Amino acid sequence: MIVLNVCQDYAVLTVIYIIKLVISILSFVVPVILIVIIMIDLVKSLANLKEESLDFHKITIRVIAAIAVFLIPTFVNGAITLVGGINLINSDCWTNANATMINTLRTNYEEIKAEKETLNSSWNEYMQNVSQNDSNSSYNPGNNTESGSTASKTYYDESSNTFVIPNTRAKSDSEIPRYTQNNLGVHPVFYERLMSLINDAKAEGYNIIVTTGYRSYSSQLSLWNGSSRPCDERSKWVSCPGGSRHGFGIAADLRFDGEKCSEAEYDCNDAAEWVHNNASKYDLKFRLSNEPWHIEPKNVEGGNFGACDKSC
Ligand SMILES: [Zn+2]
Repeated sequence: MIVLNVCQDYAVLTVIYIIKLVISILSFVVPVILIVIIMIDLVKSLANLKEESLDFHKITIRVIAAIAVFLIPTFVNGAITLVGGINLINSDCWTNANATMINTLRTNYEEIKAEKETLNSSWNEYMQNVSQNDSNSSYNPGNNTESGSTASKTYYDESSNTFVIPNTRAKSDSEIPRYTQNNLGVHPVFYERLMSLINDAKAEGYNIIVTTGYRSYSSQLSLWNGSSRPCDERSKWVSCPGGSRHGFGIAADLRFDGEKCSEAEYDCNDAAEWVHNNASKYDLKFRLSNEPWHIEPKNVEGGNFGACDKSC
């Protein structure tokens, strides 16, 4: 059954239903009381006929009042039908405010709510799997994970609180191995900041999950090759292989209360707004104005790769 806007809310219909019920009860009770009063008056007048004559005027008014009150629901229903007939907004609410409709809507509401919860939890599960799969990628770099180590291209300079990456793109997985200290495969300093941010967000009631931390050269190459964008503009949408900061272990992609947000809706919910507003306190930043989910350390030097030289 098609029900208009506000009538789809069973709570609204319940309120209208109660109003209807009260009117119905009053329209029955009030005339009964009036009739009883009339009867009492009649009996009294008959008993004292000599001293007091019948007040027909009073009786007439009470009879008319009783009939009028009794007919109120009929008038209201008639008026609502008329309003519905000329298509005024939500006149159907009155008609639809009955126990059956309310039950149907309540059931629908509970079903939709349950479905939404199921979807949310499977989405979170899916995202955790994505993150896990990325973390479990077949490539295993060994232990070359410390800042400035020969295998890792990312160097963290503590004195200037700056991450330094080369100005040339990596050419293979082995040039940019994943870090093994954490399940995101990212630089430990970056990881620590990210976890502080996420835990503090949690304390504020926001659920932030990481969908991707480290991404290997070969994963990035697959993304590149899998893109349907024309070659000359592809690097605007997908990082040129070997140049993604995910590969250097200094980038992560987030979901804010399950949402990714978008360029158009950068702060698409309260969780996203909180994280964007507070990232700098953790020496983190959202560098890309078209990727509200992509977070990096605040200070990064290097990475001036020039135009993408990858064919497609
Ligand atoms: Zn990213």
